Amino acid sequence: MKHAHSLIGSFSLTLISSSVRSQCFRVSVVSLLFFSYSSLASPDFTKLAPRTRDVLSRLVAFDTVSPPGNEIAAANWVRDELTKNGITAEVLSPDGKRGNVIARLKGDGSKRPVLLLAHLDVVGFTRAGWKSDPLSLVERDGFLFGRGVADDKGMAAFLFVAFVELARAKLPLTRDVILALTADEESGGDHGVQWLLKHHREKLDAEFALNEGGQVRLFGDKVQVGVQTGEKLYLDVDITARGKSGHSSVPSRQNAIHRLANAIAHLSDLEFPIRLNATTRGYFAQVAPLYDGDEREALLQVASNGKDAPRAAEKLAKRPYWNSLLRTTCIATVVKGGIRVNALPSEARANVNCRIAPDDDPAEIVAKLKAAANDPKLTWKHDLPARAPESPVDGAGYRAIVEAAQRTWPGSTTVAFMSTGGTDSRWLRAVGIPGYGVTPYPAARGVELHAHGHNERIPVRSLVDGPRFVYEFLISSAVKK
Ligand SMILES: [Zn+2]
Repeated sequence: MKHAHSLIGSFSLTLISSSVRSQCFRVSVVSLLFFSYSSLASPDFTKLAPRTRDVLSRLVAFDTVSPPGNEIAAANWVRDELTKNGITAEVLSPDGKRGNVIARLKGDGSKRPVLLLAHLDVVGFTRAGWKSDPLSLVERDGFLFGRGVADDKGMAAFLFVAFVELARAKLPLTRDVILALTADEESGGDHGVQWLLKHHREKLDAEFALNEGGQVRLFGDKVQVGVQTGEKLYLDVDITARGKSGHSSVPSRQNAIHRLANAIAHLSDLEFPIRLNATTRGYFAQVAPLYDGDEREALLQVASNGKDAPRAAEKLAKRPYWNSLLRTTCIATVVKGGIRVNALPSEARANVNCRIAPDDDPAEIVAKLKAAANDPKLTWKHDLPARAPESPVDGAGYRAIVEAAQRTWPGSTTVAFMSTGGTDSRWLRAVGIPGYGVTPYPAARGVELHAHGHNERIPVRSLVDGPRFVYEFLISSAVKK
């Protein structure tokens, strides 16, 4: 009854204010229905910010640098916090050290579950480059600093808070809501999502998933919500050249380092063809207005797919960022060879890191590398990645993101994009669970670049926007209307 009363109260209040502003009656009725519903249901995330900060601060303090990860302590802490809130949770571990924590709010089963996913491990750091302790959450100049705040403990904290609030609200759910905070994203996923999908598939099974990997950007005062619906596939290729060891004063022509250097020089000339998928074309069309002059013109031409598109794409590809969205790239990242300055090396090795466009076949990319290197005596090692289809932009998952974005940042635009980096969504997509990457806080361009570097940061207002966006996403996707 209380619900019904406040729904009516909120409805009429909104009706009055919206009639002043309304441009189109039908649109305003639809949006005020959403608005009334969410203002009825949504907790005040500004008031909850100290708790969100506390959860993030606890998570940052656990040393989960991966490898070795050791997420088990963090996972146990999350489980205990959920238990205190009356939610049953379990920790699943392949070896007692890597920790995955999973909890579920039951729905009426009329729809398949929604999965909220974040990883608890972080990349390593060198303290020298940091202005504060990377394992303590510190506020400075409007930002929160700490290893993992952007990738991905911030998201873990926001998912956690929204999940607990949804449980508290006791709203009727049409589908189960699964929270999974997992291990081992940064170094492969063998003990995290991949392991869970192999051994506990039913615990993650969902119609769609919300994960990291998107970008909510501020262009001036405009908020643009970038939703990651696909990603390039990740492939490391290990190339080994062998030669005769011995004294460098009596060299032979069979020198391992020269051989490897020759092969790498050939690879540096290799360029893969430009590939444009629907997501990238749509993305270019939507971001074009945010750029100026020639760049805007070229983006629009590529998006239109007309006769000038190939030339425009070539022009854009001169910039590394656009190039990485337009084609598969392979680049040498590690070279090792030789042990003494006066000894001939018996072996030299290189790692070539490839980021493969979803339309390209990884096996064909490796074949092209081999052909370009043109040395049959080289040894090649690699694990081909599974192909992962893009997540649809016309399903319930994407729709819920658009609605949540509108309620969290009114007037924002939402665009789908393919990311050049990899996330755990690739494992989900490979088994038929569409993953959507949203990093739910607006930040100026460039803030995300600190994610794996020194002084990783997120804006302080993320503590409000983050859990609010997740909550609105759940209202849209899982709460009975
Ligand atoms: Zn991450």
